[in-house]
Amino acid sequence: MTQYEAFAKLFDTNLSKADSAGIPLGISNRHIHLSQKDVDDLFGKNHSLTVLKALSQPDQYACQETVLICGPKGAIEKVRVLGPVRSETQVEVLSGDCFKLGLKAPIRQSGDIDQTPGITVVGSHGTVVLDKGVIIAQRHIHMTLADAQKFQVTDNQLVSLKLSGIRGGLLENVQVRVNESFSLECHLDMEEANAMGLTSSSRVYIN
Ligand SMILES: [Zn+2]
Repeated sequence: MTQYEAFAKLFDTNLSKADSAGIPLGISNRHIHLSQKDVDDLFGKNHSLTVLKALSQPDQYACQETVLICGPKGAIEKVRVLGPVRSETQVEVLSGDCFKLGLKAPIRQSGDIDQTPGITVVGSHGTVVLDKGVIIAQRHIHMTLADAQKFQVTDNQLVSLKLSGIRGGLLENVQVRVNESFSLECHLDMEEANAMGLTSSSRVYIN
């Protein structure tokens, strides 16, 4: 083996070690993104959301504010507001929440809220009746272009994750989302993560 080959082998080994670190996992509970108009109506005119803690995607944060969401059959309290404000309000629920609320939310990519159910949202200052915006988030992986090249995937591609452990298995239809502002992270909701025995310190692997 030449010195170059030995070096290349060492480099390869290091690369596969980096790959074996896997993709960090973010687990989402139910939450709501609000427009500024709805922030005004729920928490008072010109209210600005209060940062509770930063989330792993740049500039995203959990807020101190929470709301009550009310569907035709029931309500769920203390639903966390996530900031910053967006152009449209969107409520991301868990599949099981739909039974309690009495509505059928479709599985959608964030921002895709046409023809979704509405819901009533109650804040500390007032109430907003949404005519649409309730979704179950489609599982996805945030990554930069460099990550996408490394994993040999493209924006919007659906990939599978192979998960080990006692509740391990294959999770299909995980959407790749590529943007330079993203940091590498797979987002599953709490039900998906619990079903597969995953925690926030788990790592996932594209199959
Ligand atoms: Zn996400």
